[in-house]
Amino acid sequence: MSKEKLIEEIDAEVVACVKCGLWKRRRRAVPGGGDVDAEIMFVGEAPGKQEDLCGLPFVGTAGKFLDELLRGIGLSRVEVYVTNVVKCRPPGNRDPALEEIATCTGLYLTRQIQVIRPRFLVLLGRHAAAFVLSKGGIEVEGITRVHGKVYEISPFGFSVVTIPMFHPAAALYNVRYRDLLGGDFRVLKCELEKRGC
Ligand code: URA
Ligand code: SF4
Repeated sequence: MSKEKLIEEIDAEVVACVKCGLWKRRRRAVPGGGDVDAEIMFVGEAPGKQEDLCGLPFVGTAGKFLDELLRGIGLSRVEVYVTNVVKCRPPGNRDPALEEIATCTGLYLTRQIQVIRPRFLVLLGRHAAAFVLSKGGIEVEGITRVHGKVYEISPFGFSVVTIPMFHPAAALYNVRYRDLLGGDFRVLKCELEKRGC
């Protein structure tokens, strides 16, 4: 089956999913979006208010900032694939619970990554970083310790260049994080150039 079909199947499962408590208060589930043939895949935390309303990832303020950061390194959203650790908005934008993360990633994120099979995996924020790096055998003590580092790991059965970063929403409210996130994107740019992308 084509990547497109496989991703469509996962998307259909996500929008009908009631496997953790987060389905109860969602308006729309947010499976993910972008180019299924992308070499770069971004994983955020969870849908926020705007994403919950329209069913698409990173369309609110953090999404605009993500667009800006991508533009800054010569990329656009249509060239990458973007999704989140959990697909339904946690009420009031609270952190997703460990159980919700375990359920949702086990059902969807892992499969999405295996279908897309990106060369570069960008982890936005500590939840995405903790989940993927732990699958790669690396325990994360906090995003501050690992952001902007490059890990060549095989967390899902194939080798992928993995870069944890600060979350754009956190960076919006903190000037220091904003500078650090800008630096993280320059690391991504260097890796892309180094590897002929
Ligand atoms: N923040 C996220 O982590 N994901 C989104 O889709 C939007 C905001
Ligand atoms: Fe299903 Fe994930 Fe939504 Fe929970 S967050 S209901 S596991 S899609």
